[in-house]
Amino acid sequence: MRQNKIIGKCNLCGTVKKLCKAHIIPKSFYYGLRKNNEIPYLYSVGLSIHPKRIRVGIYDNNILCLECDHTIGKFDCYAAELLLQPSYNIIDYKDEKFIKIDTFNYIQLKIFLLSVVWRASITSIDIFSSIYLGEYESIIKAIIAESKLLYDEYFSCILIKYDSELANNIPNPEMRNFNGINYCRLRMAQYLFIIKIDKRPFDVEFIKYIMKPEKPLMIVYKSFKNSSDYKNLIKNGVDYL
Ligand SMILES: [Zn+2]
Repeated sequence: MRQNKIIGKCNLCGTVKKLCKAHIIPKSFYYGLRKNNEIPYLYSVGLSIHPKRIRVGIYDNNILCLECDHTIGKFDCYAAELLLQPSYNIIDYKDEKFIKIDTFNYIQLKIFLLSVVWRASITSIDIFSSIYLGEYESIIKAIIAESKLLYDEYFSCILIKYDSELANNIPNPEMRNFNGINYCRLRMAQYLFIIKIDKRPFDVEFIKYIMKPEKPLMIVYKSFKNSSDYKNLIKNGVDYL
């Protein structure tokens, strides 16, 4: 699977060398989709692209060298280990439910989330075409390359997990905005990841949901079936938080 004859410039280290088959969405986040040996779909929202079957995930053999893919892969592994556990500690807090994980590595989880957004932005695969990071692309690249959170407040993250396997699908990542604040919306393995790509802060009402260092990880746990029509949520992208 790693066989690839393309020589090109790696987007992360900048070296011209043999490139590898780099996944955009980490493979481990597809496992839940393959439970019944069915081949899952990656489907597009708001793009005129037909759903695609994803036997081994979507990869791009033009973006990363093997060494850099391994570097990013370590963050993927950490996130999968943390987020794809068989059971969780679900708590009630101020009339909402949260998955509470007492200790986690904020830097690794944050870089994982940013790396998925960055991979989606640098690939030319059509299903990811709505991800455009502009001036933030080079900042995120530096964050990944240096394993160091730079301008962390630009990239606030909110993690949401839906309670149903019906939410176990992967629509294309999208850029949206809420009250003028730009963010990327990633869905995979029953999760919805909201990643702000903006210098301006989120509205104050969302601050309590933002992932914070040196605090427990609080993942908003939401009913999928009881949420208002999910298709409308995807279309409107306004009141899902
Ligand atoms: Zn490289």
